[in-house]
Amino acid sequence: MNKAKILVVEDDKAVRNLITTTLETQNYQYHTAEKGSEALLEAVSFQPDVMLLDLGLPDMDGIAIIEKVRGWSGMPIIVISARNEDKDKIEALDAGADDYVTKPFAPMELMARVKANIRRVAMVSQAQPESKGEALIFGRLSIDREKSSVTKDGEDLELTPRGFELLSYLAAHAGKVFSRQELME
Ligand code: CA
Repeated sequence: MNKAKILVVEDDKAVRNLITTTLETQNYQYHTAEKGSEALLEAVSFQPDVMLLDLGLPDMDGIAIIEKVRGWSGMPIIVISARNEDKDKIEALDAGADDYVTKPFAPMELMARVKANIRRVAMVSQAQPESKGEALIFGRLSIDREKSSVTKDGEDLELTPRGFELLSYLAAHAGKVFSRQELME
């Protein structure tokens, strides 16, 4: 039994049914949402492992949903869109989407992407640093967020406050890829 939970956000009934039918054959658990507002509620209450997101929804633009979800969650978001323009893809990926599938798509290709994203997250969470109190340990590097100090092999490293902030942020999100924009924020 495959326990991964998938949230399907799609207002087009035919496409939604195609996706959910395929998910069922693969034993995924899923919830569906037809509107952006429902998608945000489900993202919080259902806590999916992966979100499949159509960009063109009746009440909200998918990009806005990606941005909102990224405010509190790193869950993989796979955009499924009829928009085939490079700028739409770039905008979605920049907003924090992990993958982009263009309609019409082969259901099994979509499943392969879902699996790949679940595997990637599992690998990252295994690689999470061990936490000792407020300190993050990365091999020879120890980051003490309370004291704002970084030591390597027990020796203090000189970092600017900005440098420290950036390093501890990246360390706390090990394995995630950030856009320059996200880091600046
Ligand atoms: Ca749509």
